[in-house]
Amino acid sequence: MTALTDLTLAAAKAKLTAKDISAKELTQAHLAAVAGARSLNAFTTETPDKALAMAEASDARLAKGEGGLLEGVPLAIKDLFCTRDVESTACSNILKGFKPRYESTVTQNLWDAGAVMLGKTSMDEFAMGSSNETACGGPVTNPWRRQGSNSALVPGGSSGGSATAVAARLALGATATDTGGSIRQPAAFTGTVGVKPTYGRCSRWGIVAFASSLDQAGPIARTVEDAALMLTAMAGHDPKDSTSLPLATPDFAAACGTSIKGLKIGVPREYRVDGMPDEIESLWRTGIAWAKDAGAEIVEVSLPLTKYALPTYYIIAPAEASSNLARYDGMRFGVRVDGDGLTGTYEDTRAAGFGPEVQRRILIGTYVLSAGYYDAYYLKAQKVRRKIRDDFDQAFTQVDALLTPTTPTAAFAAGEKSDDPLAMYLNDSFTVTANLAGLPGISIPAALDGDGLPLGLQVIAPALAEERMFAVASALEKAAAFDARPDVWWAG
Ligand code: GLN
Repeated sequence: MTALTDLTLAAAKAKLTAKDISAKELTQAHLAAVAGARSLNAFTTETPDKALAMAEASDARLAKGEGGLLEGVPLAIKDLFCTRDVESTACSNILKGFKPRYESTVTQNLWDAGAVMLGKTSMDEFAMGSSNETACGGPVTNPWRRQGSNSALVPGGSSGGSATAVAARLALGATATDTGGSIRQPAAFTGTVGVKPTYGRCSRWGIVAFASSLDQAGPIARTVEDAALMLTAMAGHDPKDSTSLPLATPDFAAACGTSIKGLKIGVPREYRVDGMPDEIESLWRTGIAWAKDAGAEIVEVSLPLTKYALPTYYIIAPAEASSNLARYDGMRFGVRVDGDGLTGTYEDTRAAGFGPEVQRRILIGTYVLSAGYYDAYYLKAQKVRRKIRDDFDQAFTQVDALLTPTTPTAAFAAGEKSDDPLAMYLNDSFTVTANLAGLPGISIPAALDGDGLPLGLQVIAPALAEERMFAVASALEKAAAFDARPDVWWAG
């Protein structure tokens, strides 16, 4: 029999409904895996008592033949989501000890669907980063290692804890958020599936804000169908978030496995960076061949402003962050360092509470919004953002979806880029575009590189065309037949 932690979410769901297994035993197996994997540092808070109580409640509902879409399914929750009475810190010292008295809409939707919470996962501080090395609780280690090497690799970021929990089989799925790639990039680095939906599909209410016009919640799971099931439960209109779309949520899982025959798939020639390994180019070509074999027509397209996406993102995201993070002043949340008078207290609190990367973003954001530079930077970036969106609109008059690599590299070594912010930011070259344009994107694990590390392919679809995106992604998933998994070196 397959170990309970090796089941897909869909298979676990079927077994729970058939009463082959109980939610309690499924949860206990995952809690044991979580406890045995502390060396990965994927979780910031474990909530075993809550998990068992939720699992027992699920079993009671299942016994009566009731239960929601995710009844009894154990999940991990990124620490950016506020969870009632459970510490929610965005992995920042400034929020140490903060236990919200409310639940984020997305997590509430998951609990309403019957899911079980295993705990909170680590992330880059305030979701700023691509390696999960800026978390106040220390870095997360990727369960994957290069063949023949014991050196630690980063799991990607900012949702590195969530991706690690799913890849290491500590949870059947996890919530994550994506402002510039933080779902898709860690998914690519850990051999998992990550989905950023259309901006507005998931409510942002109760998610600690980074850059509000870009932030979107989404799932990380081990299969496209599992991610689709989770997203169906997470999404939906929420009057508490004015940017949440007033639309019914489709059954995304039903779109998985549907034919992509006759669909036009665009290949944007600009999705290349200097020094991109040949293996990524060749995986891209393989992905194109898979799509063709599944009956799609391949069309080369141009997104000429792609090269401006990263600089645009690194003006808009810090600008919004500097404004969103102004609320952390030591008065209402987390830590306070008493300084010389009120201003001194603000200064000392923020100096002690925010890590160096968060401080850098606040400084950049404040600068680009300042009176003398607003037009030159922020306003210009807003105009370029619009033009990037126009590029996509133009491309989507010719094609139904786009296929690109998810990242320009595989997972890199811990410490390799932490002193070089620009090298770190380059990770987001292929993912930030979808955030700037508000489009849905998915990363699926497609192959291993020469070092035995997973590489991801990305599908980007027009706004609200998630069902088509899931159809294309599941066709690629089927062709890739990716079944590699990391050796379990961390247990004990
Ligand atoms: N790596 C990007 C950044 O540092 C994206 C982060 C994210 O998507 N939350 O801003």
